[in-house]
Amino acid sequence: MQSTMQDVPLLISRILTHGSTIHGKAEVRTWTGETTRRRTYAEAGARAAQLAHALRDELGVRDGEPVGTLMWNNAEHLEAYFAVPSMGAVLHTLNLRLPAEQLAWIINHAADAVVIVDGSLLPLLAPLLPHTPAVRHVVVSGPGDRSLLDGVTATVHDYEQLIAGRSTSYDWPELDERAAAALCYTSGTTGDPKGVVYSHRSVYLHCMEVNSAATFGLTDADVCAPLVPMFHVNAWGLPHASFMAGASLLMPDRFLQPGPIAEMIETVRPTVAAAVPTIWQGLLGELDATKRDVTSLRNVVIGGSACPPSLMRAFEERHGLRVVHAWGMTETSPLGSVAHPPAGVSGEEEWTYRATQGRFPASVEARLVGPDGAHLPWDGESAGELEVRGPWIAGAYYGGADGPDLRPEDKFSPDGWLRTGDVGTISPDGYLTLTDRAKDVIKSGGEWISSVELENHLMAHPEVAEAAVVAVPDDKWGERPLAAVVLRDGASLSFEELRSFLGERVARWQLPERWTAVVAVPKTSVGKFDKKVLRRQYAEGELT
Ligand code: ADP
Repeated sequence: MQSTMQDVPLLISRILTHGSTIHGKAEVRTWTGETTRRRTYAEAGARAAQLAHALRDELGVRDGEPVGTLMWNNAEHLEAYFAVPSMGAVLHTLNLRLPAEQLAWIINHAADAVVIVDGSLLPLLAPLLPHTPAVRHVVVSGPGDRSLLDGVTATVHDYEQLIAGRSTSYDWPELDERAAAALCYTSGTTGDPKGVVYSHRSVYLHCMEVNSAATFGLTDADVCAPLVPMFHVNAWGLPHASFMAGASLLMPDRFLQPGPIAEMIETVRPTVAAAVPTIWQGLLGELDATKRDVTSLRNVVIGGSACPPSLMRAFEERHGLRVVHAWGMTETSPLGSVAHPPAGVSGEEEWTYRATQGRFPASVEARLVGPDGAHLPWDGESAGELEVRGPWIAGAYYGGADGPDLRPEDKFSPDGWLRTGDVGTISPDGYLTLTDRAKDVIKSGGEWISSVELENHLMAHPEVAEAAVVAVPDDKWGERPLAAVVLRDGASLSFEELRSFLGERVARWQLPERWTAVVAVPKTSVGKFDKKVLRRQYAEGELT
C-alpha cells in the first residue's frame, strides 16, 4: 500500500520562507565591537532573494554550482547561507583559518565559481586568486582594501551594489530534496581535508533535531549566539535552526577573543551559545578575572572535542552557567549525540551522565566495532570504534568537480556505516563515552592509554590552564605519553607535583614520564588541540 501523504520535498528555501514570514520580526544582530547591527529576518529574507537574483542573473551561477563564502559569522553570511542553496546552487563555506595553500587546494577541488568574501579577509584571498582559475567572480562584503584585487582575472563586485535594486522576492524552485545544498571540508585534524556534501533533506532533518527538546530546543524566546564559526560544519546547524524556530541570532563577526565575547554576551544577553572547548576555556579565564554578567545564557553547548568535566563544573559553580556536552563531526552534520542526563537523576549522579558524549537521537544509529570487526555490546565497558548511520550522516566524500564520490575503505564499512575514528564505550542506557580518537590513543606495551582521560585530570588542577597528551615513540613500550602543559600565570607547580596529582587519579603505568612546558597548546583551524603538530615538534626536538 502506498501512503496517502503529500510528497513535499524538504528544502532550505522552506526554512528561509518560514523564518522570514512567520518569524519576520526575529533579528540577526551582528556585533561590531561595541554594539550590534540589526536586521530582521524579514529583511534578511528579502536580501537573500536579492542576492539570489544577482547570483543567477548577473553572475550566471547555475544549479549545482558551488559558491564559496570566506566570511565571519554575520548577517551577510547568513543571507548567503539561505540564498545560495535555495536558488539551487551549493554553499561552500571556506575555513578562513586554514593555511593559504590548503585553502587554494580546497577552492580548486570544489571548483568554486564565485567567492563571497568579507573585505577584512581580502589579504587572505587576493594572493590565492592567481592559483584558483575556476573563480569567475569575487563579491566583496564590507570595508577592506579592494586595491588588493587589482589585476585579478575574476570580476570583482561590491556586495551591496550587486544586490541593490533587485527584487526582494524570489520564486524559489522546487528542487530535489536529495540535491546538494552545502559543501564543507573537514578541518584536516587527522589527515587531508575531505569534502562532505549536505543535501537539502539532510540539513532540514538535522535542523528539526537541533530544535527538538531532547537536543537544544530553540524557541522564539531565544537569542542564539553561534560562537562556532559558520565555516565549521554550518555553525552546527544553529543558523538554520534559529530561522526555523524564530530564535534571534547574535553573530560575533570577527570578535572571537574572550574579552569581546564576554562583553557581547553581557550587552546583548543571548540565551544560547555554542563553541569548542578552547573558546569556553578562554571565556572562563575572562569571566573569572572580570566578573562579567553572562547569566542570560540558559544553555551553553560545548562540542567539537572532549570537554574537560572540570570546565563544565567551573562554569556551573562559579558562573551559574549550565553547559551541555555534545559530540559530532563534519560527516555527521554535525549533531551525533547530546549529553542531557536522563530524567529523575540529580546531584553527583547527574554529572556522570553530563560528562559523557551523551545519547544519540533516534535518527542516528550507532554501533561499536572491535579490532576484529565484531560488534560489541553496550555494557559501558567494551571499547571499540564508533560507527554511525542516519539521514544526516555522510555516506561518501566529494570527489572533486569531475571526479566520482569517494568512499575510502577506512572511513566507511562495507555495509555503508561511517567509521568515525573515535573509540569508546556505550552504556546499557545508550550513553556514549569516548576515550580517544583512534589516531590519538597511546599504545603502550599492548595496553591503551586514553590521552583524553589524562588531559581531563591535568586540566582539573587549578594551576593548569591547558594540557595535551600525545603518544611518542618509546624503545621499550612502543609508545608512551608526553604531557604538554600550559601553567596559569604565576603558577609555581613542578612537574613532579603534577605527576603525583595525576598518580592519585590514574594507574601508575599510565603516568607520563615525559613532560614539557609550552606557552600554548597548538590549535587547529577550528580551535582544537593540534596533536599532529605536537608530535612533530617532539620528533624534531623542539619540545624539551
Ligand atoms: P576534524 O576531524 O578535521 O577535526 P571535525 O570537526 O569534523 O573536524 O572533527 C570531528 C571529531 O572531533 C570527532 O570525530 C571527534 O574525534 C572530535 N569530537 C567532536 N566532539 C567531541 C566531543 N564532544 N568529545 C570528544 N571528541 C569530540
